[in-house]
Amino acid sequence: MPEFADKSPAELLAAPAQFLKGVGPQRAELLAKLDLFYARDFLFFFPRAYQDLSELREIDQLEEGRPASVVGVIEEVDLRNTGPGKSLLGMLLRQGTKYLRCLWFNQPWMRQKLQGGRRLMVSGEPKMEGMRWEMIHPRVEFLADDEDVPSGRILPVYPLTEGISQNQMRRIVGGVVETHAGLVDDVFPEQFLAAQGLAPIAEALPQIHEPSDHPSLERARRRFIYQELLVLQVALAIRKFRLEHQRAAPPLPVNAKIDSRITRLFPFELTAGQRRAIDEICRDMARPHPMNRLLQGDVGSGKTVVAMYAMLLAVAHGHQAALMAPTEILARQHVQTLGRALAASKVRIGLLTGSLSPAERQELLAKIAAGQLDIVIGTQAVTHAVAKSGVEFAKLGLVVIDEQHRFGVRQRAALKKAGVDPHYLVMTATPIPRTVGMTLFGDLDVSTLREPPPGRQKVNTYLASDLQRQKWWQFFRKQLDAGRQGYVIAPLVEESEAPQALDAANVQETFDVLARGELAGYKLGLLHGRMTPTEKDSVMQAFHAGRTNVLVSTSVVEVGVDVPNATLMTVEGGERFGLAQLHQLRGRISRGSHPGYLCVFANPQSDESQQRLNALTTSSDGFELAEIDFRLRGPGDLFGTKQHGLPPLRIADLVRDVAVVEEARRDAQALISSDPDLANPDFARLRRMVLNRYGEALDLGDVG
Ligand code: ADP
Ligand code: MG
Repeated sequence: MPEFADKSPAELLAAPAQFLKGVGPQRAELLAKLDLFYARDFLFFFPRAYQDLSELREIDQLEEGRPASVVGVIEEVDLRNTGPGKSLLGMLLRQGTKYLRCLWFNQPWMRQKLQGGRRLMVSGEPKMEGMRWEMIHPRVEFLADDEDVPSGRILPVYPLTEGISQNQMRRIVGGVVETHAGLVDDVFPEQFLAAQGLAPIAEALPQIHEPSDHPSLERARRRFIYQELLVLQVALAIRKFRLEHQRAAPPLPVNAKIDSRITRLFPFELTAGQRRAIDEICRDMARPHPMNRLLQGDVGSGKTVVAMYAMLLAVAHGHQAALMAPTEILARQHVQTLGRALAASKVRIGLLTGSLSPAERQELLAKIAAGQLDIVIGTQAVTHAVAKSGVEFAKLGLVVIDEQHRFGVRQRAALKKAGVDPHYLVMTATPIPRTVGMTLFGDLDVSTLREPPPGRQKVNTYLASDLQRQKWWQFFRKQLDAGRQGYVIAPLVEESEAPQALDAANVQETFDVLARGELAGYKLGLLHGRMTPTEKDSVMQAFHAGRTNVLVSTSVVEVGVDVPNATLMTVEGGERFGLAQLHQLRGRISRGSHPGYLCVFANPQSDESQQRLNALTTSSDGFELAEIDFRLRGPGDLFGTKQHGLPPLRIADLVRDVAVVEEARRDAQALISSDPDLANPDFARLRRMVLNRYGEALDLGDVG
């Protein structure tokens, strides 16, 4: 390789992997599998863990498997041939009157270095072998007789790929850090680093790879965690600012007359929370820029009414509103609820689902384009397909996305491009953990419904094993005899992408067993994803009207279905459901004036699963449960999935680093509110990093 002096830092950092010390063309090919292509990639290839050898121990204080360092004197060395090209090197290390055996396989060259009487420190994982402590392939550090004992090592542990060992990886990355870390410019200006108490890059890079002690490691990690989260938050803040200020939407202000015309349609008083959410929405919709608001509330908290209000406000101004539901059942239910409330008005409602014939669909689309429909309710899949095919609404003022927490930033970005900007209201299926709100939905404003409508009944929740089945079904039948209705939720089919056929067979089996056994003589309905929309519809109708006593179903009833007289629920295979999902299901039976009863039969296979189920019985607060679930399960695949479309986080952890998320969010908002395009040259590097990482996903391409 040519001399360093010939090249600029940027060129050096862009040096291809094969030219780095200890790499070469063959290893470069292996390293490419880890996305390590250029020198700079190695610098930011952070350890996935550390092996802590920093604990200096006396030999009789060693613990099995717990990494430690030991200082002593070489007592005896022995090299043996154990086969062609094979050898075993043994060394006995003496510390006072105690001994530690060290072994190296097939490393005969170590022999010369290990002279009897030399003082050294070995670091590794101790193992009790016979009556003696042993370390295999320990790291060795030679010490002069009078040298102070160094503090032990904290070694990086890197992700690996086949053909590269941990030690090789350590040497390669360590080499690049030594030669290249000093060439990287800091994304943050000095003043910013000082103000936030962050380690400068020139210090943080070496320390995150080869920490000299725990405090230095923590300081380095904090810097990169903060940096990663700040870059994300700046991207979200820029997007939010642009959505708010640079795009136009029709102003749809409310006035007293419109308000009373709308609220008259509801058969009840709005709760204080609903009123607050509606006020926030009205304030947004009055502005000439699109609303981007998330409405979150526990199951049954009355989100639909709030959405209805917003849609009718748009219609009052002669605009159209679209509501997208996750399932056809829910879309139909919305049409019914709206239809009932609007029976006496001139508001025209259309239903756009996959079960329309091509001719029907054509006709509906024509009406939408001609402005002959005021409110269009559809399933998300269909509406998406329609949006892609370029169907135009005559005058779309508002889009409501119902019961959706999987609807990520990316999809919303895509929707924006489809046409003129309407106002947007997104409703979550379930309360979301705070950090998720601040990240995946971080570009939205949030309204929250905390308290349920009055008269809501508590659901008695039981966790049961097979032994208690008989008693539960006895109780279940007694309640049915008293006029109540109930659900039975069949266990989830194991495979994540189970074909619907399997699901259907599963529900059918549960149905058959009950019909012959515990629920013989009662009228049972059957609901699963394999049925046609018309079939589903008639099953739901029958249950709604009380013609069936019990609905045996997959978890499709989890979202939004509203039958107040249904107060009983049996969940089978409860350990397979998520906490949020179980809470959602429970929400189906807390709708009327009778108390609800939920019995979850479960066979928890893990501690985590047991804790999840316990939480369900002790808390009925969806917000609290969301946080517990999030902590138990971790952020998992929230990022980096097609669903959310954001690149994965590399070092930050949304469960562990909540406080840093908040801090980064505040700092990002402060930065962007005073400098919306990040035009300050001090932040040019930060700006470039934000665009590189999130420009495409968040549609920030043309900032500045
Ligand atoms: P979710 O937030 O789960 O979508 P819904 O909007 O479906 O909840 O509302 C749940 C039930 O509560 C519905 O039956 C609805 O009619 C009723 N409801 C909503 N708001 C009120 C209110 N202010 N007072 C009484 N009942 C209400
Ligand atoms: Mg709802």
